[in-house]
Amino acid sequence: MAIDGDDWDFRTRAVRVGPCRTPEGEHSEPLFLTSSYVFRNAAEAAARFSGAEPGNIYSRFTNPTVRAFETRLAALEGGESCVATASGMAAILATCMGLLASGDHVVCSRSVFGSTVILFDRYLSKFGIDVTYVDLADAAAWAAAITPATRLLFLETPSNPLIELGDIAALADLAHRHGALLAVDNCFCTPALQRPLELGADLVIHSATKYLDGQGRCIGGAVVGDRKRVGEDVFGVIRTAGPSLSPFNAWVFLKGLETLDLRMREHCRGALALARWLEGQRGVARVHYPGLDSHPQKRLAERQQSAAGGIVAFEVEGGREAAWRVIDATRMLSITANLGDVRTTITHPATTTHGRLSPEDRARAGIGEGLIRIAVGLEGIADIQADLARGLATLHG
Ligand SMILES: *Cc1c(COP(=O)(O)O)cnc(C)c1O
Repeated sequence: MAIDGDDWDFRTRAVRVGPCRTPEGEHSEPLFLTSSYVFRNAAEAAARFSGAEPGNIYSRFTNPTVRAFETRLAALEGGESCVATASGMAAILATCMGLLASGDHVVCSRSVFGSTVILFDRYLSKFGIDVTYVDLADAAAWAAAITPATRLLFLETPSNPLIELGDIAALADLAHRHGALLAVDNCFCTPALQRPLELGADLVIHSATKYLDGQGRCIGGAVVGDRKRVGEDVFGVIRTAGPSLSPFNAWVFLKGLETLDLRMREHCRGALALARWLEGQRGVARVHYPGLDSHPQKRLAERQQSAAGGIVAFEVEGGREAAWRVIDATRMLSITANLGDVRTTITHPATTTHGRLSPEDRARAGIGEGLIRIAVGLEGIADIQADLARGLATLHG
């Protein structure tokens, strides 16, 4: 790792790596809202453009505030390079454009973000990139899907909305035995809980929109990995095609990273308490949370995550009608599909995030009509429980 503070603790990195200070001596990182940069003379301009001299040219290419965010996130993930992007989806697109070519094959978990599936199926397919979907937790299916053309394995762990896990170390090993790369969308855990590169993954993808921001303000994303693939190949796509991160958003994310570790601990603490409480509620048929003994992958969660995460899903008896009743009875929780916010959010996956799937595909994915997903925020846990208890009480006479 060629970053400052190689030997620093995670929390020190989160607040100290990526300093960026002007001669004014400001303590907080400056926000460079500039589209371009001025050269001292024509020779300097020529040297910057030719690459003979390092330095900024234009903010589609580089910006000091964006660079500070990239440096800090790379340090937190333990990667050599980080490239920030305008959104999490732009990070996935740039990764595929930078590292894949026509004729290449991708093996992808079936349980990935909906737009990721659309990106592969509707758009990247037009450029000759072929995708096979497999069940996240089915090791044999991953191995069986690999072909001589496979270049990339892609997954999210834990998955949305059922909070299933993929075994990062085992899949990295599988990918490498076949000359492929492993990319992990680390949105749900963040580097505070899980560092895929340390487990053998080659690339980490982020939607910074979620926990990295942490307060639901900005859209952004990032790719972390080695200097050649990320620092050159993915960066090349961003600087050329232009889904670069806005410096303003980078500044917000820099502030978000400073409290990431503290927030994630609290999200996890609240989620565990809520999951245990839900398990004891009448009308709740099942709770999905990897910190519970009832979760079939609890051991794997303990191995690859430092805590079980901030998202809990549960199934109520009575299908859609009952699930909607619980959701509509809340007065404080936000009914929204976003997650990773200080405010607790509640959503009905079958009719929102996963509403476009056919009923058969949804059933196959295990997303029932009674399923509710909660991204636990930082409110008092008793208040969250009270808000849910009102609706749950109506499920039984
Ligand atoms: C939100 C999300 C994305 C997409 O990120 P955007 O910032 O909305 O483009 C990708 N993966 C996961 C797991 C997400 O939750």
